[in-house]
Amino acid sequence: MSGTEQTGVSVSDLDLAAAVAAEADAMEDLLCRLVETPTTLGNEEPGQQIMEEAFAGLGLEPVDVMMDADILREHPLAAPFSWSVDWKRNVVATWPGAGGGGRSLVLNGHIDVVPAAAESLWTQSPYSAVRDGDWIVGLGSGDMKAGLAAIVGAVGALRRLGLEPLADLQLQSVVEEECGGNGALQCVLAGLRPDGVVITEPFPGAVTVSQVGVLWFHVDIAGIPGHVGESGVGVNAIEAAFPVIASLRELEAELNESPPPPYDDFPHPINLNVGVIEGGDWPSTVAAECSLSCRLALYPGQQVDELKARVEAAVGRAAAAHPYLARHPPRVRYDGFAGQGVEVPPDAPLVEAMAAAHERVAGEPVARIATTATTDARVFVASGIPAVCYGPLAEHIHGIDERVFFPSVVSSAQVLAVFIRDWCKMTA
Ligand SMILES: [Zn+2]
Repeated sequence: MSGTEQTGVSVSDLDLAAAVAAEADAMEDLLCRLVETPTTLGNEEPGQQIMEEAFAGLGLEPVDVMMDADILREHPLAAPFSWSVDWKRNVVATWPGAGGGGRSLVLNGHIDVVPAAAESLWTQSPYSAVRDGDWIVGLGSGDMKAGLAAIVGAVGALRRLGLEPLADLQLQSVVEEECGGNGALQCVLAGLRPDGVVITEPFPGAVTVSQVGVLWFHVDIAGIPGHVGESGVGVNAIEAAFPVIASLRELEAELNESPPPPYDDFPHPINLNVGVIEGGDWPSTVAAECSLSCRLALYPGQQVDELKARVEAAVGRAAAAHPYLARHPPRVRYDGFAGQGVEVPPDAPLVEAMAAAHERVAGEPVARIATTATTDARVFVASGIPAVCYGPLAEHIHGIDERVFFPSVVSSAQVLAVFIRDWCKMTA
């Protein structure tokens, strides 16, 4: 950080907006290529190759930040993971600042997408980027391949105008946002500690200042198999899951009883999702095993360990009331998200600068919002680095026919470009 005044010639908001608009076709092309590349967990690499090309196309030198399982498993902010991260990489590219002023910045987006929910319900294949008027439909279009395209469009415009930053600007395309945030964490551990991070998640006209944390937990319930024809034989693990779910719903209700601000504005800020259930072997065999995979949120300031204890207690209460589970209690496992909620002061310099850029370009005030979703901003803020989200307008995220409003990709890139110019003190 520095108070040094810029000395070169800057570029007006209008010229910058026009330069970003000239990148619209390239942004659309990049967005569509990314959507057409399924980048679910474990399959991120083809997407990272596209981002590597895109960063190189800006005249920057992309560098790999490899995932390191040993380092991650030791780190207190890492999410536990049972899958392999070998050979998995984040792709980053730095535009070095000339020094003598400005503030350093990371522009971050995640390449990974969640698996398509109910593919048969989609109008087209989730992995075809389909233009529908001003919307582009496809899995990950809004969350958040459009955000990655906006980063490339904004930086492309700044470079083509011949601007140079005083402070470093780094672009990041990270893996594993949708399952725990370890890709972003690996980038933090790579050493750059910027003065601010902007993540182009789909928060249109809004800067996030507060977000919940998320815990993933898995409950393994064991029953006793037997032939269903012999009445009274066996213990059905699937049916034993019902009271466990009911007890977890009671915990969810407790967590929503008196939310701290700003979550007292939400009717139901903490949401439990029983996302996956697996169990049983055969229609005529009493189910021997059942596993639940769940997501539960936590407020900023609440500790992950405290929530784990409450989850285990809720499972324990259900087990204690069950004739068989009382003697054979379910096991609670942790795999994936285990991150606290985070907050950034609404008047933090990063928030003020994003708000100012939005207000000048869009002509209306930005909303400073709390969100009941979580993002990689959590990882940066928990590491002591201010981070906010701001990005295009998207609909049906993690749902059917996810889509992004393409004009908002361009307009968010225009705001981003103005913000970058001012934050990193860019002049020609
Ligand atoms: Zn996202």
